[in-house]
Amino acid sequence: MTPTSPAVLDRADIVVVGAGVLGLAVAWALGRALGQTSGPDGGRSVLVVDRHPPATQATARAAALLTRARGDAATAALVRDTYAAIASLEEELDEDLGLRRVGTLHVAASPARVEALRALVAGSADPVVWLDGAEAARRAPCLSAAAVERAAFMPMDGFIDPVRLADAYRRSARRSGVRFRHGLSVRAIRVEHGAVAGLDTDQGTIAAPCVVNAAGAWAAGLAWTAGIGLPQAPVRSQYWITEPRPDLFPRDLPALVLPDAGAYARPELGALLFGLRGGRSVAFDPAALPDDTTGLDLADSDGGWETLEEGWEGLARLCPPLLRVGIAHYVSGLSTYTADGRFVLGPVPEVLGLCLATGCCGAGIAASGGIGRAVAAAILGGNGVDVSSFAPGRLGAVDPFSPALRAACAGARSGKTAG
Ligand SMILES: Cc1cc2nc3c(=O)[nH]c(=O)nc-3n(C[C@H](O)[C@H](O)[C@H](O)COP(=O)(O)OP(=O)(O)OC[C@H]3O[C@@H](n4cnc5c(N)ncnc54)[C@H](O)[C@@H]3O)c2cc1C
Repeated sequence: MTPTSPAVLDRADIVVVGAGVLGLAVAWALGRALGQTSGPDGGRSVLVVDRHPPATQATARAAALLTRARGDAATAALVRDTYAAIASLEEELDEDLGLRRVGTLHVAASPARVEALRALVAGSADPVVWLDGAEAARRAPCLSAAAVERAAFMPMDGFIDPVRLADAYRRSARRSGVRFRHGLSVRAIRVEHGAVAGLDTDQGTIAAPCVVNAAGAWAAGLAWTAGIGLPQAPVRSQYWITEPRPDLFPRDLPALVLPDAGAYARPELGALLFGLRGGRSVAFDPAALPDDTTGLDLADSDGGWETLEEGWEGLARLCPPLLRVGIAHYVSGLSTYTADGRFVLGPVPEVLGLCLATGCCGAGIAASGGIGRAVAAAILGGNGVDVSSFAPGRLGAVDPFSPALRAACAGARSGKTAG
């Protein structure tokens, strides 16, 4: 008896797996590059598949700071492209996407940190205003003037609602003819003779010569089905939101990057949203992730309290009003970190037609527009940031399920000092 082939459910020239902000940004950029010609009667067709509705996993939980000063030029360029993407989406959709350009105050609480801050902003083409403690506290009244050695204010920075941005990418992509299928779980990437042939899903196969793996925390598990080990692990990110106190945290408060406290903060409707990185980040085995992380008990079961206890004093030294306010919300979710803190982007040389848009390192919203354009350019040709320094194979062969890789990726998050 010959085995029967599974039903072909769909076919497309390019399939993007994942309708989080990265998959949607890639779909947007592909749609733009292909213009209104994509689809059966035009140029190459693009299909996005996800088992959930769009932007309901990591993307829905992001603090969504769009910090422009970055430790390396390529990441900074990807973030600049996101600002350009927002402007272009606003024009195309004729609506305001709610980008809050409050600026970022990078705070140094010690002379050594001032040097690190100088090095960080030296790499930025943006305007920078240097402030002493008193001036910094005037811009951000919740800061202690005495605790600030120097601060660099970068006025071009902002933050945005991540779901709104993701939805704008989706709507623009749809206008260009990109199709979407939700409620479909991809089980494996089909590879024949060293090239992508399509996808196995829980409802049948999808034939496609090109697949973009933008599956977020699940991307390593998916890549493994094509024999590719990704150098990344899902790692918990978390933040807290205080009770509303507009007298302490005005709506135009700048975003705060506080590396001495391992913290960041931004205004949230008259409250303060603050994230603490903590010395012990929790990483997960990508092989053991449930399909949905909503309500997932993020492993150590402490609801972030250990990190809060550990980091609270250091943060309150810089931001004393925190000692007087209650906490109203705790939000946690899975980002995907690499050991070197860099994205995993671009084509996979071992499998023709396989491309990656993952390894977000807690900056996927900020870099989404740039990643979308760069990945589309890697597939179709055209302009985009050179992503060769984010190549999946840069760290050599890895076992994506090894505890050592998880520990290294968790360490990258704990040691992060930029936005
Ligand atoms: C608490 C927290 C704070 C953060 N703060 C910031 C910030 O300030 N700035 C910033 O830039 N970033 C921030 N981030 C990071 C940001 O959220 C991520 O970088 C970004 O959302 C990653 O998007 P994604 O598309 O890769 O992943 P996701 O949004 O998780 O999307 C992946 C999608 O793939 C789908 N999928 C996976 N596997 C399959 C499969 N086999 N079949 C079908 N569908 C599949 C999933 O259902 C999901 O919808 C934060 C993250 C967290 C958790």
